[in-house]
Amino acid sequence: MLKLYNTLKRKKEEFKPIDEKEVGIYSCGPTVYWYPHVGNMKAYVFADVLKRALLYNGFKVKHVVNVTDVGHLTSDADEGEDKMEKEAKKEGKTAKEIAEFYLKAYLSDIKKLNILPADIYPKATEHIKEQIEIIHTLEKKGYAYRTDDGIYYDTSKFKNYGKLAKLNKEELKAGARVEMREKKHNTDFALWKFSESPGKRQQEWESPWGLGFPGWHIECSAMSMKYLGEHFDIHTGGEDHIPVHHTNEIAQSEAATGKKFVNYWLHSAFLTFKGEKVSKSTGGLYTISDLEGLGYKSLAYRYFVLLTHYRKPLDFSLTNLDAAKTTFERITRKILELKKEHHKGKDSTAKYQKEFEKAINDDLNTPKAVQVFIKALDDFDFDSKKKLALLEKMDEVLGLDVANMKEEKISVPRDIQTLIDAREKLRKEKKWADADVVRERIKEKGFLIKDTPQGPHIEKA
Ligand code: AMP
Ligand code: ZN
Repeated sequence: MLKLYNTLKRKKEEFKPIDEKEVGIYSCGPTVYWYPHVGNMKAYVFADVLKRALLYNGFKVKHVVNVTDVGHLTSDADEGEDKMEKEAKKEGKTAKEIAEFYLKAYLSDIKKLNILPADIYPKATEHIKEQIEIIHTLEKKGYAYRTDDGIYYDTSKFKNYGKLAKLNKEELKAGARVEMREKKHNTDFALWKFSESPGKRQQEWESPWGLGFPGWHIECSAMSMKYLGEHFDIHTGGEDHIPVHHTNEIAQSEAATGKKFVNYWLHSAFLTFKGEKVSKSTGGLYTISDLEGLGYKSLAYRYFVLLTHYRKPLDFSLTNLDAAKTTFERITRKILELKKEHHKGKDSTAKYQKEFEKAINDDLNTPKAVQVFIKALDDFDFDSKKKLALLEKMDEVLGLDVANMKEEKISVPRDIQTLIDAREKLRKEKKWADADVVRERIKEKGFLIKDTPQGPHIEKA
């Protein structure tokens, strides 16, 4: 039985799909105006673990991840510049070129993190018609009104506005530092924004209300419902989306359809740096490629993320990452050894598998699941073939790519090879002390030797 923490109810609930045949998940994806940072990746790794846990539990999954390529303004409160237009101006490119470039960067990074690809990556700019249709319905039903700069959603008309954030209207108002202009209520938000000076923006479309572009929230209502239906199972995102983006998605969708929008809302906590949220708009932090350049494998970063429960904030520092990297390297080494071993031992599969499933099915407790994984790996009595099969099974959820872990080919400089050969000769002559001196010299030069039945194994120190 899989239990998930539903933000809507503020408690863990047993997951029951709407349709046994297929679970629908919608994850708020990247705004493609800049490289995704390690903070974004925490949210994507969480959504991936969720999807993998559902697959592990025998569900079929349809996963939709949207691509925001228009309408996300520099402030979440419908103010400021469109992030896409701003970057296009800065780089002297078209908004479309910017979107394509940074979408590629996102896809490349999630692949490096062994994140399973979504079934569909719908783009906001390719669903303008669907967004206009919902706004039109909201207008007909009396939820929308016109101001000097756009069409707005009247939050006072939606009975349970703010139910996800568990805030009452007064609290939501207090939290929203917005310029009112002609808006009726602080919490009202843009469904459609008019182009201030037509022809100046790169991305603008004709609509029943005039030339303009969609507000940020409407894309997620339009695209999730198009691909998953008006009522679907799971919606994910970072916890920053609870009070505004997801609150508004619910208001729009439920007002338009008259149905419950989503059954389970799941949110991941932030990646922080020195206690502050890592964000793209403030320059981000590292990207996955940056980390690679510093010698951290992408999967070591995935492992680092798994060590903290998704609902807990994770403070990023290279020192914290170093500790995870060391353990991940030890795991990799031990799995490579295991792949060569033929130890006939006990079959402890059932015991560990039960423990692992208990952890994962308890609201995706990855830190506990990783502990069980390591416990099984370090169990000397465990039959090596059965152990490897179990670790690969657990990896269906953890995604550390156990099946493809390979010896890394490292190029050994000629002077080091000469020392290795000299040491081998000394060892054959049983001159152990001299051989150890040579090993130390090799270590000083940055290489480690491990003696295996197949001969010396060389690693970077
Ligand atoms: P964006 O590309 O800014 O639209 O964000 C994409 C996803 O990353 C959203 O689900 C955000 O909630 C999430 N996100 C943004 N910053 C962070 C952070 N520092 N830690 C964790 N998740 C984040
Ligand atoms: Zn969204």
